[in-house]
Amino acid sequence: GAGIGSWPRRRARISPGSVALRQGGRALTYRELADRTDRLAAALAGLGVRHGDRVAYLGLNDTATFETMFAAQRAGAVFVPLNHRLAAAELDYMLADSGASVLVVGPGGEEPDERLRALDSPRRDVRHHLSYDELAARTPSQDASGAVSDAVPHDAVSMDDPALFLYTSGTTGRPKAAVLTHANLTWNTVNQLVHLDFTSTDLGLCIAPLFHAVGLGQISLPLLLKGGTVEVVPRFGAAAVLSLIEELRATCFSCVPTMMQMMAEDPRWSEADLSSLRLVLYGGSPMPAHVAAEWRRRGVPVLQGYGMTEAAPGVSMEAALPDGAPTAGAPHFFTDTALLGPDGVPAPAGSGTGELLVRGPNVFSGYWGRPVEEAGFLTDGGAPGGPGDWFRTGDVVRAGDGLLHVVDRVKDVYISGGENVYPAEVEAVLNELPEVAAAAVVGRPDERWGEAGVAFVEAAPGAAADPAPIREHLEARLARYKLPKEVVFVDELPRTASGKVLRHRLRAHGGGASG
Ligand code: AMP
Ligand code: MG
Repeated sequence: GAGIGSWPRRRARISPGSVALRQGGRALTYRELADRTDRLAAALAGLGVRHGDRVAYLGLNDTATFETMFAAQRAGAVFVPLNHRLAAAELDYMLADSGASVLVVGPGGEEPDERLRALDSPRRDVRHHLSYDELAARTPSQDASGAVSDAVPHDAVSMDDPALFLYTSGTTGRPKAAVLTHANLTWNTVNQLVHLDFTSTDLGLCIAPLFHAVGLGQISLPLLLKGGTVEVVPRFGAAAVLSLIEELRATCFSCVPTMMQMMAEDPRWSEADLSSLRLVLYGGSPMPAHVAAEWRRRGVPVLQGYGMTEAAPGVSMEAALPDGAPTAGAPHFFTDTALLGPDGVPAPAGSGTGELLVRGPNVFSGYWGRPVEEAGFLTDGGAPGGPGDWFRTGDVVRAGDGLLHVVDRVKDVYISGGENVYPAEVEAVLNELPEVAAAAVVGRPDERWGEAGVAFVEAAPGAAADPAPIREHLEARLARYKLPKEVVFVDELPRTASGKVLRHRLRAHGGGASG
């Protein structure tokens, strides 16, 4: 089948000499990308990687990330990109959960890798733990004609095979892998291209991290399918990206709102030449209206996308430049939306407000290793996980004029700088401390990050209301972006009669003894 791993080779048949990937001064044509993909796929097969196996990757955005992804998929395996910002124990959990047999450490993954190596973890299935350079060095040598593709395993890839695991936490707080198939990623790409007129002459920046769906699904795969060029940016920096836009005359990129805000607040903003940009896409969290307006004032067409990991990720996108307030746009061409009615029945998403439901060929059918019930599909009567099921987004959406407006969330997640934080996960770590009797974490509006966490803590009887040991414990166990900005001690958390914490009360809470 035309799995994602075959895209470089297929594209090389059409435009072999065009540049597919660039990074700094380096460039890889489609032919070179296809050759590397085949060689790395053969190297992975040589390590015993077989159809359905998982290949994990730890590193910054890099051409190596794309090469390893295509190679794993070409070998029939599933690519599992890990967030390098996570703490070692979090990464370790994902390696064990995914059952990855190979871990490839790319450029910029060395530092978390060192911490990971220090962990003693018998549950992991990782049999080969190697750097990208070591993997590339294992490549079998070319034959006299220079051909290497014979060494590629000819494992039939079906479009319904898993291609990518993306970890997302969900309401339980335990990270789980959304299983995205070759078909899910392909249909998302087609959906994006219906809304976006990417061409082979586009040069897009991949600045959103590739372990999230936005960087891959909203810009990179659509551009690579069309034969355009992706400049891979290892690490986002506002001034550096503004310079890169000028230097390369970049035509497009996709990002989270925090990045657009940081660029608009950078000292270089007013003099930056943005005239090459045709399209800036953003999504992943609500956009402050003044930030979108500032980009538009500078003459840059900015379009909002709305989606989630489970939809690979696009659900809707603005189709034309808005003249009023930005919206989440219209549902994608091949994707259906509905609102959850008060009677628990899906109602057409023509007008009204309610939890948004989504289904379509881009929507996943479950989390890895979890009963399908955990995905919370609204079934049409049959067994869950079928194509007729609706995925409950957990987002409250107002529909009107065929456009979607995201107004609230029913799920407990908050989004800080584009990264989702699940209160349950932070609360579980807080509750490990004997000095904590009970804890609740909520997100509150934050000027820089969109939202930031506040931890409300009931101290255990006799324990001092001291935030220092609490912070220390959290810092050792969680990625930095998950650390609450504030720890507030309360006598008692507000609860319902049944004992459930009233989070909306905490969101409105003014603070108190804090640190
Ligand atoms: P993730 O799975 O990390 O991509 O997070 C998906 C969630 O991000 C959605 O369910 C929304 O809550 C939020 N989100 C995504 N796009 C938007 C948007 N355009 N406006 C507001 N919230 C968004
Ligand atoms: Mg997100």
